[in-house]
Formats: sequence, C-alpha cells, structure tokens
Amino acid sequence: MSARIHYTKPSITELEIGYATDAAANGWGERCYEYIQRFEDAFKSHLGIKYAIATSSCTGALHMGMAALGIGPGDEVILADTNWIASAAPIVHLGAHPVFVDILSDSWCLDPEKVEQAITPRTKAIVAVHLYGNLCDMARLLAIGEKHGIPVIEDAAEAIGSVYRDQRAGSMGRFGTFSFHGTKTLTTGEGGMFVTNDPELYEHVLTLSNHGRARNQSRQFWPEVVGFKYKMSNLQAAIGYGQMQRIDELTTRKRQILADYRNTLSTHAGLAINPEPAGTINGAWMPTVVFAPETGVTREQLQSAFAADHIDARVFFHPLSSLPPFEERRGNTNAFDIPGRAINLPSYHDMTVSDQERVMAVILSCLDK
Ligand SMILES: *Cc1c(COP(=O)(O)O)cnc(C)c1O
Repeated sequence: MSARIHYTKPSITELEIGYATDAAANGWGERCYEYIQRFEDAFKSHLGIKYAIATSSCTGALHMGMAALGIGPGDEVILADTNWIASAAPIVHLGAHPVFVDILSDSWCLDPEKVEQAITPRTKAIVAVHLYGNLCDMARLLAIGEKHGIPVIEDAAEAIGSVYRDQRAGSMGRFGTFSFHGTKTLTTGEGGMFVTNDPELYEHVLTLSNHGRARNQSRQFWPEVVGFKYKMSNLQAAIGYGQMQRIDELTTRKRQILADYRNTLSTHAGLAINPEPAGTINGAWMPTVVFAPETGVTREQLQSAFAADHIDARVFFHPLSSLPPFEERRGNTNAFDIPGRAINLPSYHDMTVSDQERVMAVILSCLDK
C-alpha cells in the first residue's frame, strides 16, 4: 500500500523550535511581549506596511477591524459567495448582513461588476478574499470602493506571498488580515495578523484588542469601551518569528509546487489551474484544478480516485449561501457550478517529486475515463 499524501503539513525547523524553547524558558515577566514585537516588526517590513497587530486568529482580526470601521446592525458587507465561513462570521457577529456575490470563472475571486451591482445605501464594506493565493482585481475593487465611499477590506489569509503590481496582498485595502492556522503557508498553530497604514484605525483596533484599554491610559484596569480578547501569545509569536525568517523559502517552495503541477497539467485540454495574470505573483497557497464541464469529471469521482490512492483531496469551497445559516443565491452561477468539478491538491513544503507525480497520475486517470 502506498504511503498517505497529506494535503498540508507545516515546515517547522530547528530555528522555530529554538525560538519556541527560548520563549517557553525565558519569555515571561518583562520579556513576555518580546517575540510578539519581533514577529510584528518582521511582518510589517515584509509586507511594506506601517502597522501590525498579532492576533489569536484571522477571524478575530477581521472581527476587530470591522468593529472599528463601525459595522453594526442593519449594515451590509459584500463578499464573494465562494469563501470559507471565517470571512462571513464576524459580519454576522456584529449584527450586519453578508451579501454574497458571484466569482469570476478564471480567478475564482470576487466579480467586480457584481460587487458594484450589489451596493446599496447600507453597504459598509467590501471584503476582498484572495482565494487560494489567487488575487482579486484590486484596481477595480479599490476604484469601486473609492467611487462609492466604501472601504475595501483584504482577507489575505490565503495570500501571503501573493503580489499585485508590486504591492503585497493585504497591504492595499483599508486594512488586511492574515491567518497562521496550521494549514496556512506560515503557521503559528493558530494565529493571525491585523495590518493597516491608517494610524487612527490602528489605535482603535489596538485599544479594542486590549479589552478596550487605550495604551496611553495610566489608570489600571480602566477600559473605555467593551473590547475583545484576540491576542497572540509570546510562545506562538516565537514560532511565527522563526517562520518569518524563512518566509521567502516557504513561499518559493509553494510556488515551485504550483509550477510543477501547472507544467504537466496545463498541457492537457479541459484542466484549469490557479492563474497568474501579468503583473501579479501567485503565493500559491492551495493548488487547485477545475475540470471543464465537457470532461464530465465530477468532485465525487475525484474524491474516490484520490481516496483509493491514499491521497488527501480537499473539496473546493461550497458557496456560503448554500450552507444552512444563509439564504441560497442560485444566481451566483460560477460559485454554484465550479465546486462540483474541482479539487484542491496536496502542496506541503516537504512533498517530493514522486508524491506530486502520484497526484497528477490520479488526475490524468480521471480525465481518461
Ligand atoms: C483560514 C482562513 C480564515 C480563518 O483564519 P483563522 O486564523 O482560522 O481564523 C479566514 N479567511 C480565509 C480566507 C481563510 O483561508
């Protein structure tokens, strides 16, 4: 029986283990924020952004950022129907309403035209999620936001390493968020980051992140507002700091894996893989194949073929509007149509060429049937 191929697995070296050990042994008392500071500083310089706040998750970073923008009951926030629920949950928790619009068939990200059509007087934000490392059309989304006076938020949880016209994903919107969950390119186990260039928004989120206590408040235990508790621990930040020193290595490897898949698979008609339009770099978090309708290949067929060869296969995100908490939006035709003929491919740092060949053999065998 062939060995199991996992779809993700972090790359943790002696470097991260050394920092984590140091944080566990010494990172207390006066030194209890040291690695958090270092991780945030390294992240800021990587991204080319002014402010960063390490958080316990991307979901928490989104929640605080949206709260700071004043999103609340009765408001609407536009995002793509094709998404993980984490991007929508904070909207619901704030009492606002997620408005799901369709995706483009090539990038699998927000369709700017559909975004503009969905704007109403209650629209308070547009959330641009760079799906699987593919980039949203930021120029058009930012122009639409500007025209209507609506902030664009970047959920860049899947897009570390992605670059749009010389700007890194997460650095272009009013604020950006990242995830360091164990499946992501850079991991701290669980964790996230809030980033912005806006000094006032930064101060606001910093206060919210500290249970509503402003950093210039000299009175102890004196919150001015009810805030949140979404902080990252120094122990997690120590691992993140180590990962940050390897960020080029981590993203280069992801891109290599995607390129290897693309080189073989794109020579076959009927297969689409993550695009990389001119002027962009795809951070390649999650290599994904979409089969053309005429191939007749289905998600279920792919899942059983992968399972038979002990390869993890992850399904393309279901449209959020098809899930029980939400109201179905069948008019989002790409979001409803693509998942039935698509699959995410394994792409962890240490996978071998022969692992990748096994994955591709399964894909091509489905195509031949
Ligand atoms: C992983 C992910 C999240 C959630 O991140 P957490 O750190 O688990 O909260 C949010 N948005 C997107 C697009 C993601 O891929």
